[in-house]
Amino acid sequence: MTIQVVVWGENVHEQTNKVVSDLYPTGMHGCIADALNSDPAITATTATLQQADHGLPAHRLAQTDVLLWWGHAAHGQVDDAVVDRVAEQVWAGMGLIVLHSGHFSKIFKRLMGTPCNLTWREAGERERLWLTSRNHPIAAGLPDHFELENEEMYGEPFGIPDPMETVFISWFQGGEVFRSGVTYKRGAGNVFYFRPGHETYPTYHDANIQMVLRNAVKWAHNPAKRIVDPTAAPNVPVAGALEPIVERGPRLHHDGEEGLR
Ligand code: ZN
Repeated sequence: MTIQVVVWGENVHEQTNKVVSDLYPTGMHGCIADALNSDPAITATTATLQQADHGLPAHRLAQTDVLLWWGHAAHGQVDDAVVDRVAEQVWAGMGLIVLHSGHFSKIFKRLMGTPCNLTWREAGERERLWLTSRNHPIAAGLPDHFELENEEMYGEPFGIPDPMETVFISWFQGGEVFRSGVTYKRGAGNVFYFRPGHETYPTYHDANIQMVLRNAVKWAHNPAKRIVDPTAAPNVPVAGALEPIVERGPRLHHDGEEGLR
């Protein structure tokens, strides 16, 4: 059984900007899915904003091991019900890889709980990515540093919580630096944010970037059975305590009652 991956693309710039559609005739999501499918251990399909349920109905997410997310111009058009659904699947064990301008996506901000803001400049600068965790599985097969000749600059301070691990930092020609590859655990789900991928540059055609994405899919995949109800908060009545106890003092709730949320 291969790792089941869905590459979610906002698919807006591909329809409205000739530079982007020339670089990515099948969409950035199509290019990324092709790169992932070059690995026999991965089966990647795509979903876009414009589809019903943004291509992410519950039954599809339930069968998705790892979801990749690229969004930029239309974060606000993503249905909150779909964001809730994705968050619950991450908490239940689905892997999530958030790409580039996805730092401001509803799902990433929800899972981070911080503004996820940064500084930026669109000037085609050279980006040099440095490994900061050499034997991390996401960095497998990569040199200690590699370059992208043209990229958008993202700079610190990056408004994220302290990562579980920082796998890459980036240096930009203008002098800024950025934590460009960071990992988190949210519930049972593995989350990776990866910075490169501005839509007017050929970043997702780059061999090193494609290797990072394939590695990240394998890292984010949690093979354990998905948690059925990751947000359940059941009441345990006195009679159900593991050790016998005597009830004391006043109380607000009845046995077995749904708690307040
Ligand atoms: Zn960008």
